[in-house]
Amino acid sequence: MDSGIANILHRGTIAVIAGARTFERGERCFAAGRVESCEAGRGELRGVVRPTEAARAPYATRLWVRADGLAYECTCPVGLERRLCKHTVAIALAHLERERVEADRGLDVLRQALGALRRAALSEGRLGIARRDPEVADELKRMCLDALSRG
Ligand SMILES: [Zn+2]
Repeated sequence: MDSGIANILHRGTIAVIAGARTFERGERCFAAGRVESCEAGRGELRGVVRPTEAARAPYATRLWVRADGLAYECTCPVGLERRLCKHTVAIALAHLERERVEADRGLDVLRQALGALRRAALSEGRLGIARRDPEVADELKRMCLDALSRG
């Protein structure tokens, strides 16, 4: 999974740029399943959103990273003015959701693999990671303390 866009694209960022009203409309647009496609490329996101009126052509929208932040365009009237529209919000949300699902799937695979490891091998592995990464070490210590305090 590439895309410099993943580093900059967060739900909160989009909400701030879009404003509450546009963000909410984008959420509804996404929730209604109107995002027909959403593709992430290097530093950009492209998508197609189905219009509510059947007679209209689908909206083509794009979101990309510039030196000074995010840029966006869409074939709807709002997007043509280079303002962040609900369609662009919708494809951003579609992208974030897909990333979340992929991350969960990755964790499921890891969970199964860990389940197959013998206990001793697992402990040794964790210690190895903790040795390389102090944050992980702290996290493991906290986990142990929590477990002990629960008795
Ligand atoms: Zn639009």
